Amino acid sequence: MNKHDSERMAGLLSTRGYEQTSDMASAEIIIFNTCAVRGHAEDRFFGNLNNLRREKKKRPNMIIAVGGCIAQKERDFIFEKAPHVDVVFGTHNMANLASLIESVELSRQAVCEIADKIEVMPTSLPSVREHAYHAWVPIIIGCNNFCTYCIVPYTRGREVSRPVDDIISEVKSLVADGVQEITLLGQNVNSYGRDIYGESRFAALLRALDKVEGLRRIRFTTSHPKDLSDDTIDAIASGEKICEHIHLPVQAGSNKVLKAMNRKYTKESYLETVNRIYDAIPGVSLTTDIMVGFPGETEEDFLDTLDIVEKARYDSAFTFIFSPRDGTLAAKMENQIPASVKSDRFDRLVELQNRISLEKNIELVGRNIEVFVEGISKKNKNVLTGRTRTNKIVNFVGPEYLIHKEAMVKIKEAHTWYLVGELL
Ligand code: SAH
Ligand code: SF4
Repeated sequence: MNKHDSERMAGLLSTRGYEQTSDMASAEIIIFNTCAVRGHAEDRFFGNLNNLRREKKKRPNMIIAVGGCIAQKERDFIFEKAPHVDVVFGTHNMANLASLIESVELSRQAVCEIADKIEVMPTSLPSVREHAYHAWVPIIIGCNNFCTYCIVPYTRGREVSRPVDDIISEVKSLVADGVQEITLLGQNVNSYGRDIYGESRFAALLRALDKVEGLRRIRFTTSHPKDLSDDTIDAIASGEKICEHIHLPVQAGSNKVLKAMNRKYTKESYLETVNRIYDAIPGVSLTTDIMVGFPGETEEDFLDTLDIVEKARYDSAFTFIFSPRDGTLAAKMENQIPASVKSDRFDRLVELQNRISLEKNIELVGRNIEVFVEGISKKNKNVLTGRTRTNKIVNFVGPEYLIHKEAMVKIKEAHTWYLVGELL
């Protein structure tokens, strides 16, 4: 979501004549688009901000702007800690970024704008995309789930869906602009439509997008396991463009911890969903988010996490150490887990998942697979790199004209994080 928002900020500013630069010394404006999900991201942001103090002294006309979830949450704290900041804008205030910057240019006074609710959908703003072939398409913004560890509902607000027609017409114009692959975005895409239609319309949206001519691949993230419907699984199984990949964050394997997290599913019901997915969608890849060290997590609870990982057989996982976020219920819970226990569990979890990731990749050796070529490998100019529909990276030797096209590749070698193939 942050990547998408950054593309919109870039689009908005480029229509006002600003250009992007990767050279900090020549930048007249520096924008931080921040993440507040874990303490680590927040610490890094404040560290980077602090490093700009000297630069700002040298070039007082340089404008520093801070947006994203930390801005939304810590408006006063940012100015207090970093008086060299000129603009603080909340997650719902992106549309006004250019005018906030212009007001600082004119008055040289710091400004702050933070709304509690979304007024202008960021999707109505122009965009400068990182890749010509790919676009992020938010379908629902915000979250109503209030998992007890999570800051997102406090920084992104309640769920607001976009009407189906609005999404389809955006996707059609993206395709006319050269986009071949889209990733639908939502904290929980399965909730899509509930606020406007009174029921989830995610499966219907997938089916409608599957008919958009010229579009090649449809991805989406994230599915909350509590409400992934059979209808959605069927849409993925039967859709031509809908990629066979589901990101289904499990977070933990113990029913006690899942309850304390307010995830609203059990280990058993989660595994049932996983089995439905494996049965219905041949060749599907399944990925997840997992957290260790939630308050009160015992060794036995953690063994349940290892067990669910073993049973669900994820293709890959984003693994996290629980980080207490101020304002969430979990931050106030007793029985916080010592850092050494958390890091020991983290290492054991990563080791298990790496083994499974490699095993699942080995199963693909010898298969012929369709790869969308994204570009040239950073490490070797003769090697192309692309992705399977299941979102696995495949490197293979091939001609440059295949870039941004599909190629059939025979898988020759499996690694934990990528595959190596041979062009057919
Ligand atoms: N909406 C998505 C998740 C968004 S946050 C979902 O429900 O799946 C992405 C991931 O960050 C989460 O899945 C979780 O694993 C992790 N995360 C969120 N809050 C965290 C915290 N306080 N400490 C550690 N990890 C956290
Ligand atoms: Fe956070 Fe839970 Fe909402 Fe995901 S579903 S954004 S983890 S509160």
